[in-house]
Amino acid sequence: MESKLKIYNTLTHQEEIFKPIEEDKVSIYSCGPTVYNYIHIGNARPLIFFDVVKKYFRYLGYDVTYVQNITDVDDKLIAQAIEENVSMDVIAKKYSDIYFEDCKSLGAELPDHSPRATEYIDGMIELISRLEEQGFAYEVEGNVFFEVGKYNDYGLLSKKDFEHMEAGERVDDEIISQKKDPARDFALWKKAKPGEPSWDSPWGKGRPGWHTECVVMSSDLLGKKFDIHTGGVDLIFPHHENEIAQAKCMGDADFSTYWMHNEFVNMKGRKMAKSEGNVVLVHELVKQYRPEAIRLYILQTHYRKQINFDPENLQAAQNGIEKMDRILDRAEKFLRNSVHKSIGDDEILSHKSASNTRYLESALNEGMNADFNTAIVIREMFGLINAIDQELKMPADTPIRYITLSIYLDQLEEIDEFMGILPQREEEVDEVELEKIETLIAKRNSYRAAMDWENADKMRDELDKMGIILEDSKGGTIWRKKLQK
Ligand code: AMP
Ligand code: ZN
Repeated sequence: MESKLKIYNTLTHQEEIFKPIEEDKVSIYSCGPTVYNYIHIGNARPLIFFDVVKKYFRYLGYDVTYVQNITDVDDKLIAQAIEENVSMDVIAKKYSDIYFEDCKSLGAELPDHSPRATEYIDGMIELISRLEEQGFAYEVEGNVFFEVGKYNDYGLLSKKDFEHMEAGERVDDEIISQKKDPARDFALWKKAKPGEPSWDSPWGKGRPGWHTECVVMSSDLLGKKFDIHTGGVDLIFPHHENEIAQAKCMGDADFSTYWMHNEFVNMKGRKMAKSEGNVVLVHELVKQYRPEAIRLYILQTHYRKQINFDPENLQAAQNGIEKMDRILDRAEKFLRNSVHKSIGDDEILSHKSASNTRYLESALNEGMNADFNTAIVIREMFGLINAIDQELKMPADTPIRYITLSIYLDQLEEIDEFMGILPQREEEVDEVELEKIETLIAKRNSYRAAMDWENADKMRDELDKMGIILEDSKGGTIWRKKLQK
């Protein structure tokens, strides 16, 4: 397959033409969530964007394998377990289930594999032991560290100025004092503190550090060489730099060919983060906005530019989706009722021209192939919507109008194979279900009128269980079925 796709590779700091390791196949490893809480719109950015990347490779004809890990052992999980007074695995199960629900409600496909760190403890112990045997790691009182000084290429990915760096990891003074190089050495194995979940190891009871899991899981599921490694820019250093150091020292010369990193979603100029307490949760947003609107909102900015979260822009995206919905509805009705319905696909194909297919061409060439510039793709999708609108403004049902509309709609649907932002048509519901939905909405509205929010929420929850999402607007309450992809 001749590739025209250019990807900005963080490792080489330039755009490169994509060349897969194995012809027609793409393997992607994505650093996934630490499952101790609900995800926010910042976490949704890599989720939505790399979903589009995966679907675009598939659109181009590649056979894609997508792996995303689940970090289910970590200080934050331990702290949350204490807070909720349950064990760490209960926390991990609860928040990974919620994560998968959030993925689905954003129209993102679940990964082909979702390995959990706790399933790979043996593999991690083995890797750390090998690093120790070969002199790249050292133990101090039950903690094991990677000795960065033994690896010459450290810093190629992040281009950090280590001379002026303070101790990197947020660890206590005792641990810092154990490191030979406090600014760069990182923990591979952490000795258990009393009461913490732990595993037996050659260095005593403890648990692996975070940077080891992705090396072990990616090589198990994708092999020692794979095509693309992804994450947010906050993972470039130290996480990805440390992954590369371990993999390279084990002689896995290639590891990942391309490294892709999405920029942040900010809140008032600062990175949105659970630790900052400035988050907007996906779980809440999907109650208010259509999933297509959230996807559109994220994708209308190129992934290497920051987004400043602004509910007004999200509302504008919602309005954009509603506009699409209205125009597509009219277009479908026009085509359905047209007297030219017998015009076949061949005839339609023969009318394709540079002028009426320029939207798709530009979405692919100036958009996706130019380092996944989804902002351009969205511009072209709205270009098509406006072109459809113009056609519909002319009342005559002519053969050429039928053909032109068909060409425009086909292009939109083709682009949407990877974008996933076209408004989902309301699914047919049977009469019994319809009656139930309408009764629950009516009840909810009367509870709301009586300011009985508790019962009103119960009605919403009932509907939610049936897969119905409500939207309250000035014109009243509308409902739709959840997106099922
Ligand atoms: P975490 O659970 O914090 O490890 O994050 C999961 C994924 O979300 C990682 O790829 C992070 O880089 C990414 N991420 C976290 N916060 C943001 C943010 N504010 N904007 C964009 N991506 C983020
Ligand atoms: Zn990782």
